[in-house]
Amino acid sequence: MKSHETLPLVPLVRGEGIWLEDADGRRFIDGISAWWVNLFGHCNPRINDAIGEQLETLEHAMLAGFTHRPVVELSERLSALTGGALGHAFYASDGASATEIALKMSMHAWRNQGETGKSRFVSLAGSYHGETVGALAVTDVALFRDAYAPLVRSGHTVPSPDARAAEAGESAEEVAERAARALARHLEHHHHEIAALIVEPLVQGASGMVMYHPHYLRRARELCDQYDVYLIADEIAVGCGRTGTFFACEQAGIWPDFLCLSKGISGGYLPLSLVLTRDAIFDCFYHDDLTRGFLHSHSYTGNPLACRAALATLDIFAADDVLTANRGRAAWLGEHASAAFAGHPAVRHLRQQGMILAFDVDTDQADFSTRFFSAALDAGALLRPLGNTVYFMPPYIVEEDDIARLVGAARRALDTALGGA
Ligand SMILES: *Cc1c(COP(=O)(O)O)cnc(C)c1O
Repeated sequence: MKSHETLPLVPLVRGEGIWLEDADGRRFIDGISAWWVNLFGHCNPRINDAIGEQLETLEHAMLAGFTHRPVVELSERLSALTGGALGHAFYASDGASATEIALKMSMHAWRNQGETGKSRFVSLAGSYHGETVGALAVTDVALFRDAYAPLVRSGHTVPSPDARAAEAGESAEEVAERAARALARHLEHHHHEIAALIVEPLVQGASGMVMYHPHYLRRARELCDQYDVYLIADEIAVGCGRTGTFFACEQAGIWPDFLCLSKGISGGYLPLSLVLTRDAIFDCFYHDDLTRGFLHSHSYTGNPLACRAALATLDIFAADDVLTANRGRAAWLGEHASAAFAGHPAVRHLRQQGMILAFDVDTDQADFSTRFFSAALDAGALLRPLGNTVYFMPPYIVEEDDIARLVGAARRALDTALGGA
């Protein structure tokens, strides 16, 4: 709050498409999709209509002992998107809760199979899986975790396959293989106490849009099978088409045992999260004894309005062939960003995965992120670096001239932020 004395909050009054507008009539291109959640623009008429219709039909009801069409249809459509590999869905309202569910369910599944010693988790260096006390056990971001260390039952951390770690002549795939070998050594020694490995497939978002080769996911899948460890794919940020395929795991040709979705699934409209899992996991809990069941409830579980927003979102993916159209958008983003930043003396590791583009800025400024954010607002764009990493994560409705404008604003912001040092 103290920093807002010099950097006042921006009072937003409306959104339309890629634009946000404040109380003074200033307009900003939302270059990070409202914190990675918005897929098809603000106040999208198609999603608005679906929610409006649902609002007149059934706004909410408890999901224990009851069900409703939006939650059934959403579960079936998501299962179909995995080719039936992940045929069961468990609902909650936010991303961190999806992480909690996947952690609890993986450990409990082992317990129901008589494996009571498997209660630890492995995550990657720099991982982010949410900030509730349970999720912090697998979140490796000191700023979010250190103050609460006494509350957190820490897990095991293994090296990240971060492609930036390549040594001279080493490919991203070779970096991934090196990290996979470290994972293999870890699992070899500790598998008897490990319930699951949790990863952010292809892009570790919150620690700075760290990108890695899909080879790591294939190796992680093999190693988890070899050592009897479940694989949790946290697709909260990378799912829903963000990396080029609907699920990021598809690029590695694997399915995890648990897949967490949130953020974009409701189109960025309403809080909704879920965990998809396999028949074999479902079967571990299917029993007369209630204590073998998965007892985890949230008041707003499977909220019909949120599920209906998600169905409208999936409808847009299908009707507009969004994944194909996004290849063109991603290419424009890559071209404009390369032209603006590839030769810039302070820019390092320009990288892209589908509709995420990022680069690191070589600067000693401790407040670079704030300076850039502020300068970008002045230039008409909402862009909010993670430390020294500037990134673009636009909604899937940007046209080429929007991208040119967004990248142009970022270039001016970069020069202003650095120039004023
Ligand atoms: C945002 C995010 C979460 C947490 O979701 P919340 O809804 O903010 O609790 C978890 N994992 C990843 C990869 C995320 O990006």
